[in-house]
Amino acid sequence: MMQSGLKIAPCPYCLQMSAKDEGCNHVTCYFCKNDFCFVCSAKRNPILVHGNHYHRPNCPHFADWWGANQYLPDKCMECRRAKKLCTVPEDLVDMDIPEREKYDILF
Ligand SMILES: [Zn+2]
Ligand SMILES: [Zn+2]
Ligand SMILES: [Zn+2]
Repeated sequence: MMQSGLKIAPCPYCLQMSAKDEGCNHVTCYFCKNDFCFVCSAKRNPILVHGNHYHRPNCPHFADWWGANQYLPDKCMECRRAKKLCTVPEDLVDMDIPEREKYDILF
């Protein structure tokens, strides 16, 4: 089976599928208007606030971080929601599953 050329990623906020904009590694969800990394589907707001270690470890934009992680509820919507330092996103082991099965899981 050939893959189609269209790239899609599930939005981490609302789990809707968004199509990728060309030449850009983050997308704004068409449905809920939140930004996330297209490559690893990590939320962009914590990445901007805390650093690139808030990408998932398998993402090319992921970078190790040796500084202290700070609880920043004023800037980070995930900290605000968790009422503590938000956790880094987990590695997505299911990113390699076939598109069809991904749909079956999400819908
Ligand atoms: Zn969304
Ligand atoms: Zn990423
Ligand atoms: Zn946070």
